[in-house]
Amino acid sequence: MAHTTEQLSRAFVALGSNLGESIFLIHQAFDELAQLPDTRLLICSSLYKSAPVGRLDQPDFINAVAQIETRLAPHDLLTALLEIERRHGRVRKALNAPRTLDLDILMYDDLQYQAFGLTLPHPRITQRAFVLQPLLEISPDCYVPGYGTIAKLLAACPEQRIEQIQKKND
Ligand code: ADP
Ligand code: MG
Repeated sequence: MAHTTEQLSRAFVALGSNLGESIFLIHQAFDELAQLPDTRLLICSSLYKSAPVGRLDQPDFINAVAQIETRLAPHDLLTALLEIERRHGRVRKALNAPRTLDLDILMYDDLQYQAFGLTLPHPRITQRAFVLQPLLEISPDCYVPGYGTIAKLLAACPEQRIEQIQKKND
């Protein structure tokens, strides 16, 4: 049973896919985020195409970020996201392996937290232009708790080929 709280929280979720019908899957995942219990989808970024990082011998990724408002507690939100991933056939293999759908919680309010398999903000946020770029698009003044502004993080982030392929609300 999911724990819901009285308090409405804001969270940013990263979406990524590089196996199967990735563009379609990301759109579907936006819809599924909108249908989570006690949750409202506030903003979807454009879709981006990005070069793989870590393991280079795999297809490009399609990436996006969404902002939601939710009463789901952080671990319940993570459980719900993993369930959506699972429904889309994600099988966890090695880190950085190709995936049909990857959903990560980037930030949850201004929480800084690490326990039971959940780290907030997401520990690799500063290394990933493919999440910082869409975040900058939908929340240019956003401050990542413990790290700094998105603009500052993006400037310091390792170079990555990334291209906007579908504008917001296309
Ligand atoms: P990544 O998304 O970094 O490429 P994986 O999706 O393979 O890697 O790893 C996911 C695991 O990381 C999840 O099972 C989850 O327990 C853990 N995790 C820790 N913090 C987070 C977070 N903020 N969002 C999503 N998963 C997280
Ligand atoms: Mg993940």
